Amino acid sequence: MNEIQREIICIVCPTGCRINVSGDDPQALSITGSECKRGKEYALKEITDPRRTLITTVQLNHGRLRRLPVRTNVEIPKRSIFPCMEIVNRTEVEAPVEVGQVIISDILGTGADIVATRSMTRV
Ligand code: SF4
Repeated sequence: MNEIQREIICIVCPTGCRINVSGDDPQALSITGSECKRGKEYALKEITDPRRTLITTVQLNHGRLRRLPVRTNVEIPKRSIFPCMEIVNRTEVEAPVEVGQVIISDILGTGADIVATRSMTRV
């Protein structure tokens, strides 16, 4: 494996420590600059399995608005964001919708559901 050399700004708390991760063995990386254990865990996850919450909108039919705000109910692998967006962009939802309603179940086999983040009445 190639040598890893990354600087990561920790977003776990407002302190925003700059954490340096380096090494060529993913099992034994050197992590410096973090003020606490949470920052080390965050930096390691960013290197080995970065994940994000997908927050976007889908096409809404017969609703008060034309777009429905949605998000994943858990974080998904960062590499899955764009493939998931392709599915979301092809999705149309029929109003009414309740907040928390599952719009797409287990998107791309990630284990995450796309859920509505607000209710929308039918017009
Ligand atoms: S390393 Fe710890 S103190 Fe620093 S930003 Fe992350 S959580 Fe906050």
